[in-house]
Amino acid sequence: MGKWVLRMNKQSATGKSSRSNQRALRPIGLLIILATAYAVYHLNFKQSVGHDLFELMGTVVDIKVVVPNYVDAEELIAETRSEMEKVVDVMNAYNPESFVARLNDLPTSTPLKVEADEAIILDVLEKSREVSELSDGAFDITFASVGRYWRFDPSDPRLPSDEEIERAKNRIDYRQVVIDKEEGTVMLSGEETRIDLGGIAKGTVVDVAIRFLKRHGAEGALVNAGGDMYGFGTKADGQSWTVGLQHPRKPTGTVIPGVYIRVGGREVGDFAVVTSGDYERSFVHEGTRYHHIIDPRTGLPSSGVSSVTVISRSAEWADAMATAIFVMGAEEGMALAENRPELEAVMITDDLEVLATSGLADSVKGIELKIGASN
Ligand code: AMP
Ligand code: MG
Repeated sequence: MGKWVLRMNKQSATGKSSRSNQRALRPIGLLIILATAYAVYHLNFKQSVGHDLFELMGTVVDIKVVVPNYVDAEELIAETRSEMEKVVDVMNAYNPESFVARLNDLPTSTPLKVEADEAIILDVLEKSREVSELSDGAFDITFASVGRYWRFDPSDPRLPSDEEIERAKNRIDYRQVVIDKEEGTVMLSGEETRIDLGGIAKGTVVDVAIRFLKRHGAEGALVNAGGDMYGFGTKADGQSWTVGLQHPRKPTGTVIPGVYIRVGGREVGDFAVVTSGDYERSFVHEGTRYHHIIDPRTGLPSSGVSSVTVISRSAEWADAMATAIFVMGAEEGMALAENRPELEAVMITDDLEVLATSGLADSVKGIELKIGASN
């Protein structure tokens, strides 16, 4: 290219022939500009997409990402998955190696050291406690003291005896989870108290995935871990991610006609949309349906609500709050939701009434809830 410039400069000094040479060079210049523009566009701006489904924590995780061309979408999803698995390994009560399982196995009031790679558990336990306090104990990870006697798998269910429930429900008390931040330890101070993070952990894991995706160049993503979702940015075509509300009494994938939430939009899309549903895990015994969300006051599945969806900036917070609002029920639960500026909520009651916080009725920027429309 230096050579051309040199010749051009030289000949421009000789008058007549320079004009025809310039004309000859024009298409080449144009080509160079076009080639450069094309290269810049492809290197920096063109997006590619990735999509994967895999199993984690007994549910299907679905990740969709939009990345710039220089990021390998499939590889990014694989790395995100392994970040999620690391966190599950700490929190999954059913994995005997996990922090939670080891804590549950210790004699009463024995502190367990949190190792460096388990540090996330301290945050999760603190958030859990905060939600327990806000909900007056409706959300309580020590529900597991009675939850351990239930099995909600319809192919192998277990209904505890009245005596089991009566005895174990007295072990439920979130204050018995004692965190010593200075020592970096956790202990359970109640006899036979157990914890289970099933009401919050999926949200934590979704947040971990989203943070990882953002840090590694994703421009948009929708992560869905069995009803715990987080969306940011837009799809590759610039459209918002849309999330339908599952009909609680119809087969999976049946969206309530006219009720859907739009997450995203170029300026503001960055939300968790998390649903607690009584249809997720349940069994029927002698005509009664028993589901997996336990009211700590009774030790039995809580009643009156079919599903609660919470929209917030954190999937972890939304997850725990959705479970809390579910257990609290229509009146108290929706009153709590209405008072929390950081979240919006939609509740579907047992008789299929749809309730929503006023922030949604007014259609908060970036979130659109349509009730009774034809979408
Ligand atoms: P979610 O779908 O987030 O409402 O979570 C339901 C899961 O939360 C159950 O499968 C239990 O593992 C756990 N859980 C049930 N009842 C409670 C409760 N009262 N407080 C906290 N976690 C609970
Ligand atoms: Mg939850």
